Amino acid sequence: EVAARVVALTKTYGTGEARITALDEVSLDIAQGEFTAVMGPSGSGKSTLMHCCAALDRADSGSVFIGDQDLTRLKDKALTRLRRDQIGFVFQSYNLVPTLTAEENILLPLAIAGRKPDNDWYAGVIATVGLGDRLSHKPSELSGGQQQRVAVARALVSRPRIVFADEPTGNLDSRSGAEVLELLRSSVVDHAQTVVMVTHDPVAAAYTDRVVFLADGRIVDELRDPDRERVL
Ligand code: ADP
Ligand code: ADP
Repeated sequence: EVAARVVALTKTYGTGEARITALDEVSLDIAQGEFTAVMGPSGSGKSTLMHCCAALDRADSGSVFIGDQDLTRLKDKALTRLRRDQIGFVFQSYNLVPTLTAEENILLPLAIAGRKPDNDWYAGVIATVGLGDRLSHKPSELSGGQQQRVAVARALVSRPRIVFADEPTGNLDSRSGAEVLELLRSSVVDHAQTVVMVTHDPVAAAYTDRVVFLADGRIVDELRDPDRERVL
């Protein structure tokens, strides 16, 4: 089953002489339960692709289906609902709410939606995030690796159809990065979660099932079951 389908997605910035084509008719299918890495040089359109797929930004043309809903056709209210219920997002810079505890941050998407956590799912998320008594701490009292694990738990808590992560290990040392990657990997392997992750790091890409390479706003190559040597 396809979790997300991108069809001829085009996004430009600026006008006239300064016009930049960040995405040039990108088409891509993301299978349910697969961990995909998006790689490519700086400026190749990776972040733009994540943002347009997660409804954080609007493309110029083309479609993005999350399940059977084309988010490019949705009005604001329906788009907000889709983003809230079916999409998780992890930022490089964690983006936690500093005044809330780790656990309050994790529960925030559900609180906003007025929903209660699914107890079994929530217990699993909390167990795998592995924060113990630090769940009651504020982000400023946590290491970068711990903050990013909280951000991943927040992205997973509503059991979204798909999680997008934009360089989730970009600010972390290799050990903390590995913990975040293990967390994403186990959500895919143990819970059939679908994850798409931008990364520069071949070690991170080796955790995934598939690597898609972007250059100048186009998909130029693809690799199945990557290992470190083949990605490098
Ligand atoms: P990547 O994530 O691969 O580094 P981006 O998606 O950030 O690439 O950027 C793709 C292209 O779009 C680049 O040329 C970048 O400079 C340009 N770009 C991205 N965001 C903006 C913006 N808000 N305004 C103007 N140009 C942008
Ligand atoms: P991790 O591998 O989870 O990122 P670190 O090795 O960076 O953890 O941190 C070791 C311990 O120090 C952790 O228990 C963490 O909570 C604590 N710690 C790290 N950075 C901070 C900080 N800025 N403020 C308070 N405690 C911190």
